[in-house]
Amino acid sequence: KSEKTYNLVIAGFGGMGSYHGQLVEQAERIAVHGAYDPIEYRMDLARSRGYRTYDSFEAVLEDQEVDIVLIATPNDVHKELAVQALQAGKHVVCEKPVTVSSAELSEIVRAAEEAERVFTVHQNRRWDEDFLIVKDLVEKKKVGEVFHLESRVQGANGIPGDWRQLKAYGGGMLLDWGVHLLDQLLLLTNSRIESVHADLSYILGTEVDDGFTATIKFKDGLTAVIEVGTTNFIKLPRWYVKGTEGTAVIRDWDLSGEIVTRNREVEHVEPKPIQAGKGLTKTMAPPSEESTVRRPIEHVEDLSEGFYANLVSTLEGASKQAVPNNEVHRVLTLIEAIFESAENRSVIVREI
Ligand code: NAD
Repeated sequence: KSEKTYNLVIAGFGGMGSYHGQLVEQAERIAVHGAYDPIEYRMDLARSRGYRTYDSFEAVLEDQEVDIVLIATPNDVHKELAVQALQAGKHVVCEKPVTVSSAELSEIVRAAEEAERVFTVHQNRRWDEDFLIVKDLVEKKKVGEVFHLESRVQGANGIPGDWRQLKAYGGGMLLDWGVHLLDQLLLLTNSRIESVHADLSYILGTEVDDGFTATIKFKDGLTAVIEVGTTNFIKLPRWYVKGTEGTAVIRDWDLSGEIVTRNREVEHVEPKPIQAGKGLTKTMAPPSEESTVRRPIEHVEDLSEGFYANLVSTLEGASKQAVPNNEVHRVLTLIEAIFESAENRSVIVREI
């Protein structure tokens, strides 16, 4: 069995590029061989971390010792760099959103097939614990059959003041955070999508969306509301999940939250009317204590091998890549439907 160590070069040594340096350093049988960034002070930083640096992307591709190129540049150049690297015989790991259109991704996948090289996307939030908890409770029917879920990330800091505010670089929150939430959503059901209705927000006056709300209906009846905001001084919960037997909420990344289900052990107890504002209501009274079971959120263990360990075993044909390209392509198709719905102010009825 070969014990080769794979050499990886980081293209785009910004915030995420340097984070990948740490991820690779923690992984086995893969090493950071160097970095390339057109900005000189980013190269100084790479050198201070002990990485060799290159004068151009072409120089990276000409280096025969390089096995893998990691692309962590702004979104608009992912496709161009990925295709060049694949054609030069390198394997490629690309940051999300992989490209700004599904057609661009198809081009990359064709180049990977022709070159017989691995191309994979770092959809790291597939392994976020809040998401793994929701996936587990959906699969184990902890709140019965889930028929509606809401997934949100909300901040009050606006769009970061970099390329993310500019259309030409593939900026905007739908591509930035939306791609994570939509990728997670599609892993929660095997059903195809029936329709999409969405609105983008432009509260901050930038040329790209500073957030969005999308309502997605699946063929099996599941509905989902996905929302990203950058103007929210008070956040709504990260996850809100409704099932036929109960409701679950995860408030934040600290995993605070709870699961409340119907208590099957007791006879139905009629709720007592409560004073609500200037009136009385029985309909909106909380369920009685006896008739429900309240549990804390149960943590789940991430049993996956880790992104870079999976990459190494994929390169050796021992594993399938953890983020299949057809799944990434489907997310981009959904993003395109969301843009289309917002632009035309219409419901997109289309199987996705
Ligand atoms: P950044 O602005 O901090 O870094 C981008 C770097 O790319 C800059 O240093 C820039 O000089 C360099 N660059 C620009 N054009 C280049 C080119 N042609 N060749 C090589 N380098 C080039 O941005 P960031 O926050 O690090 O984001 C980079 C990518 O990582 C984006 O695609 C972003 O969506 C993604 N990202 C992913 C996550 C995640 O959790 N998966 C988090 C943050 C960012």
